[in-house]
Amino acid sequence: MKQRVLITGGAKGIGEAIVRAFHEAGYAVVFVDCDLDKGRLLEKELGIVFKQVDVSDRQQVEDFFNQTDEAKQPFTVLVNNVGITQAEPFLDLTYEAFDHVLKTNLYSAILFTQHVVKRMDKGGRIINIASTRALMSEAGNESYAASKGALLSLTHALAMSLQPYHITVNAISPGWIETGDYHALSDEDHLQHPANRVGKPEDIARACLFLADKDQDFINGENVVIDGGMTKKMMYLE
Ligand code: NAD
Repeated sequence: MKQRVLITGGAKGIGEAIVRAFHEAGYAVVFVDCDLDKGRLLEKELGIVFKQVDVSDRQQVEDFFNQTDEAKQPFTVLVNNVGITQAEPFLDLTYEAFDHVLKTNLYSAILFTQHVVKRMDKGGRIINIASTRALMSEAGNESYAASKGALLSLTHALAMSLQPYHITVNAISPGWIETGDYHALSDEDHLQHPANRVGKPEDIARACLFLADKDQDFINGENVVIDGGMTKKMMYLE
């Protein structure tokens, strides 16, 4: 039987690369996104299943799992990819804006994992897309850093809880990845990476496929940092 994967935020950027990689590897792909136009385009191009869901809206997520035929069948892999950043500096940040980032980046992963695990049959793989911003910081992205830090903790906690079901839970923390929103990265940005380039969405997609492998059951609770060595770079003070 074909392996089935569910991917959140799959219409563009890293999510789109993950969708394409699993499709090319022969998985049956279902992906959700709030962007109807981009989602439908990719669905049509690849002949896979897309549903419009705002993952920050609990009711929409519940409806997706309870009312969509494709979501009721067992999945072998879940990739919690969706993620948004924060627009305002900390002192201007409203409670609602902070809450929205957490709902989108963290609570959605909890909801999707609960539903998918209940549908997993004989084991499975959960992959959470975190960020190097959970490990190192810049000013002005506190809610994002908090959400991704919590996602990493959730990852190793769930690895323990779901081990009896033969489900592994791992995270991937990308460094700067050249997606639509990051196209304006400067040469200086590239040079922050010892690899001398920023990442490509495909760098993350390849690692997802690796962690999704059904034989890869001894990697559990890990955070795979994919940043061209950026977080390992020694900084010298002038
Ligand atoms: P992106 O903004 O290019 O794409 C995100 C996708 O998620 C879009 O298709 C968008 O429509 C969708 N989305 C946003 N909010 C949604 C919602 N509420 N419901 C449903 N869909 C929603 O993002 P990206 O750069 O590809 O990032 C993907 C993941 O990788 C995120 O979790 C992000 O935090 C993480 N990440 C990205 C980078 C990077 O440099 N691009 C670095 C570290 C981590």
